[in-house]
Amino acid sequence: MIRFEEIAETVQLHHPGADLDVLRRAYVFSAVAHKGQVRASGEPYLSHPLEVASILASWRLDPICVAVGLLHDALEDTLATPKEIEEKFGPVVLHIVEGLTKISQISFSSVEERQAESFRKLLLAMVDDVRVILVKLADRLHNMRTLEHLGEEKRVRISQETMEIYAPLAGRLGMSRIKNELEDLAFQHLEPEAYKDLTKRVAARRKDADAVIARMTGVIKDLIAEAGIAARIDGRVKRLYSIHQKLIRQKIDLDELYDFIALRVIVNSVADCYAVLGLLHHALKPVPGRIKDLIAIPRPNGYRSLHTTLVGDHGTPFEVQIRTEEMHRIAEEGIAAHWKYKEGQPASQDDETFAWLRQLLEDVQDPKELMSSLKIDLYPEEVYCFTPKGAVRTLPRGATPIDFAFAIHSEVGRRCVGARVGGRIVPLRTKLKNGDIVEILTAPGHHPSRDWLNYAVTSRARSRIKHDLHLAERQQARDLGRRLIEREWKKSPLRAKTLEEETPRIEALGKELGVGSRFDEVLSSVGFGRLDAASLVEKLTPPELRGKTQTAPVKPNRSVTPNDARISVQGVDHLLVYRARCCSPILGDPIIGYITRGQGVSVHAVNCPNVKNAMVDAQRRVPVSWEPTPGETYPVRLSVEVHDRPGLLAAMTTAVSDKGGDIRRAEARTYDDRPGMVDLVVRVRDLDHLKALVRSVKDISGVARVERTSLADAPQ
Ligand code: MN
Repeated sequence: MIRFEEIAETVQLHHPGADLDVLRRAYVFSAVAHKGQVRASGEPYLSHPLEVASILASWRLDPICVAVGLLHDALEDTLATPKEIEEKFGPVVLHIVEGLTKISQISFSSVEERQAESFRKLLLAMVDDVRVILVKLADRLHNMRTLEHLGEEKRVRISQETMEIYAPLAGRLGMSRIKNELEDLAFQHLEPEAYKDLTKRVAARRKDADAVIARMTGVIKDLIAEAGIAARIDGRVKRLYSIHQKLIRQKIDLDELYDFIALRVIVNSVADCYAVLGLLHHALKPVPGRIKDLIAIPRPNGYRSLHTTLVGDHGTPFEVQIRTEEMHRIAEEGIAAHWKYKEGQPASQDDETFAWLRQLLEDVQDPKELMSSLKIDLYPEEVYCFTPKGAVRTLPRGATPIDFAFAIHSEVGRRCVGARVGGRIVPLRTKLKNGDIVEILTAPGHHPSRDWLNYAVTSRARSRIKHDLHLAERQQARDLGRRLIEREWKKSPLRAKTLEEETPRIEALGKELGVGSRFDEVLSSVGFGRLDAASLVEKLTPPELRGKTQTAPVKPNRSVTPNDARISVQGVDHLLVYRARCCSPILGDPIIGYITRGQGVSVHAVNCPNVKNAMVDAQRRVPVSWEPTPGETYPVRLSVEVHDRPGLLAAMTTAVSDKGGDIRRAEARTYDDRPGMVDLVVRVRDLDHLKALVRSVKDISGVARVERTSLADAPQ
């Protein structure tokens, strides 16, 4: 078992003057918490947090991070409480430990291949401190190194998870050394036969390979030294899993592998990189088409290097990678190397993966602050949630349970009546967060509500909701149409028969009028306001009976005026729309619609008192907008307070006409004891027109106040 003192020394080496006290306390805490626990290997459990801390220290991470390594299993596997950890180690340590606990609660066992990427993104998105991921990777690395002590089923499950989630994650963060080790370890447990076979074949070539490495290292070392360039050279045989993948992917044999052997030349500057490449190409034979300038065009994860393949003395090809010390560290340690280099000079990767990181490097001046402020937000557009069975669903940010429900199945969406997130009932407007486990509650016969359009963000959900609403509206329009027709019907000589008995004639008339030849279509045409109920009934009445109808002039019903084409209901066509008389909104007024029971949509000004009082049913509110119609005018009522003087009314009507307002009514009342009132009804084009008009009325001497008042209670 590694000694704590060794870890402390490593931390001190990389962070001179760091506070080692927190480390020591974490060690003692962990030792007490895990006391008596034993690993599958038979070792005391404490060996695991110690090893994890040691790995983190070797990555040169800060003391906080190493302390978390010591504490990482304390919350989950011991009696330690979050409160204790916070009190002893502060909120930052607790935050990271809790992040780790959160990750470990996600079950990856049901991960399908195609979901792996979502899970990896989820991990990155779920944590807001990159140290969580780093500790998790160190934890996983040590568990993989000691996997042989577990039973086969566990080994395979953990290895699969490592191969699908953690190794690619390390790769994404540019930590290729960790990625490589994780892959080789997982490979061993997932494909033991292939692993054994390949190990044998590689071992057989090992001696030759080592000889080539030794000879070529010597040759290259001399070449570079002669040119006066300082360099460090090391050689290696390609690692197993990487060989395995290449052989399978390219369907080739081990002999055909160009990079079975690779030498690495590490120099001091980019200029030296290219100089060395030139020297090598001059002295040794390069293989055409194998030269890669990954300095000019780095890999997406930030990897930079020059690659070339040369032919050795016995005709054995080998790869040479040329890079600077900085490139080398970043190639091996990825994100773990970045903040270290901030102290020297900013990393200059010109790629997308590290764009967010680069942004942070630029934003954060003090490298010590970087770790704590490093918020992972690699996928700001997406949110990852789970079904209760653990399947992941990727949704856009801002998505709600409604979107989730429709993402599962349109029937689930349609029948959705509620949702539980993490076991708790939440409002359907709740924005989902990464890692939420969402359960949709459904009820048979339930239908989408219009309100859902305010919460749903996915186009899938929105289009289904609109479709359903549309169907419901047609039904509503049919019901409304029937009521309107029946009202006229009862007043007409036709009333001896029922509507149904006259269906053939109604359908014939519908066809003639071009609104459709089905009874239902005629009803909905009336409901949508395309056809007037009174004239329909009139047309159905035989001419000889028409005169006997009640002759009182038919006034349009107040609440059911003809459809107002100047207003459109968002997302819906052909709904009966009318402007509410209480506020009589005009073009330019902010408006809102309200679905009345059976009478279409009444449109109010947003500030109409009725909006606040009568429109209590939020579900029935619907967004509406103006459809500017040239030449259209709107009646407005103005109540003008005046100090009586001769010619005032005339001055007022002149002012209004001068501004292009059309006066429909003007009535003046004067009193002895108080200011007089002039009541005007004026037709205006829009709100701006009204404002201009009001201004010029206000300018008239004798006018005290001008107020827009409700047309509804205007004297008739
Ligand atoms: Mn652990």
